[in-house]
Amino acid sequence: MIHTLTIRTKSKVEFVDITQQVREIVRKSGVREGVCYVYAPHTTAAVTINENADPSVVRDIIDALDRLVPQAARYSHLEGNAPAHIKSTLVGASEVILVEGGDLVLGTWQGIFFCEFDGPRTRRVLVKVVEG
Ligand code: ZN
Repeated sequence: MIHTLTIRTKSKVEFVDITQQVREIVRKSGVREGVCYVYAPHTTAAVTINENADPSVVRDIIDALDRLVPQAARYSHLEGNAPAHIKSTLVGASEVILVEGGDLVLGTWQGIFFCEFDGPRTRRVLVKVVEG
């Protein structure tokens, strides 16, 4: 079974902490040991794991991606959102998190983020928990 999280982003670029929602899906799945896939089926968004305790970490990541992939550069893609496509590929569309004792195995400071690079939009994140 694949679970869908619906995320309504409010800004052009935004990281949304989805840790608790993913954790809830894992708990309800009844899987004690296995893996959890978190996947964003979008070309201008991504999923990543990083610190969710200090929000300045996310701001620094967003700023660093802006320096790497500036809006004001020459791109072939004429839709105007080439930087969002490139950031999506740099960060990646999915994460795999181990499941142990019926819960996600995450470090103390780790959280799961949906990364919006071309919002605001309504987005989907797909979550699948597999026993094994
Ligand atoms: Zn595009």
